[in-house]
Amino acid sequence: MKEEDFIHLCQPDSGNSCGACCGLYNYADNTKDSLIRRLRNRTGLFRKIVKDMADLKAFSDRIKELESSEKLYEVIYCCEYLGFLDGEEKRVGCLLHPLQNDGVDMRDVSFYGKELCNGHFCPSYQFLSREEKLSMIRIVDDWYLYGLCITDIDLVKEYFRFISEGICGVPRPDRFEGKLRDIALRFFSLKISWPFRATDTNRFGKYYFDGLQYMISHIDYDALGCERSKFDKIFLSFTSRFSTLEELRRGEDIIRENIEEFIACYKMGAVGQL
Ligand code: SF4
Ligand code: SF4
Repeated sequence: MKEEDFIHLCQPDSGNSCGACCGLYNYADNTKDSLIRRLRNRTGLFRKIVKDMADLKAFSDRIKELESSEKLYEVIYCCEYLGFLDGEEKRVGCLLHPLQNDGVDMRDVSFYGKELCNGHFCPSYQFLSREEKLSMIRIVDDWYLYGLCITDIDLVKEYFRFISEGICGVPRPDRFEGKLRDIALRFFSLKISWPFRATDTNRFGKYYFDGLQYMISHIDYDALGCERSKFDKIFLSFTSRFSTLEELRRGEDIIRENIEEFIACYKMGAVGQL
């Protein structure tokens, strides 16, 4: 990849950020409110007691005493040094990063070590297209939703596939503003507000966990009496569980209506630009 093509997904701008690979969503209670409390408390403690690297052990020990360590997936580490980078709590990120500590890089003490923390790029860097990355950065401006969506390659790819088919081309990232952005944001917000979301605490997107292993939680279309939905991958990303065929059809309607609204609005804007 050419340097000028590189798009930083972890900290793309002042309104977006992701901490997924630091274990942000791997807590058993990974609701937004719970994570805000967790990150707020540890950021406050860090600012109060960490003056240099010698204070990090005391910080780490205290966090382990104060916080619930119950996880979704035991094998994924949840790093205690993930916090808020700004006073407005708009960006999550590494409290040990040199930009947070007057140029001192403290990441050597972390579970993964400085090299891994610094050099890790998740699969979204590789598998999302440049247009998909730029569009997602424009669509979402909330750290909780951004991290959930930018790491969900199936969800991003499927939405862009359906809207691209409808407009006969790839949507231009700079078109994601105003009404078009609102429509796309409504779609991605379903990741949190989906009405057919399974409430089991061991589910996360298409995965379910038994503590040590994770498996894909498929939809039983035979039991519902229908063929596999064309929105199957999106349903899995939304952690869906349908009790009846009517529920599944309602779910399909919600997604279809959003995609159709986006396509109509995009085409109308394209005509307006002629
Ligand atoms: S999951 Fe990907 S985008 Fe998120 S912090 Fe990790 S490397 Fe960055
Ligand atoms: S030390 Fe590494 S794993 Fe922990 S928050 Fe920083 S970057 Fe993430």
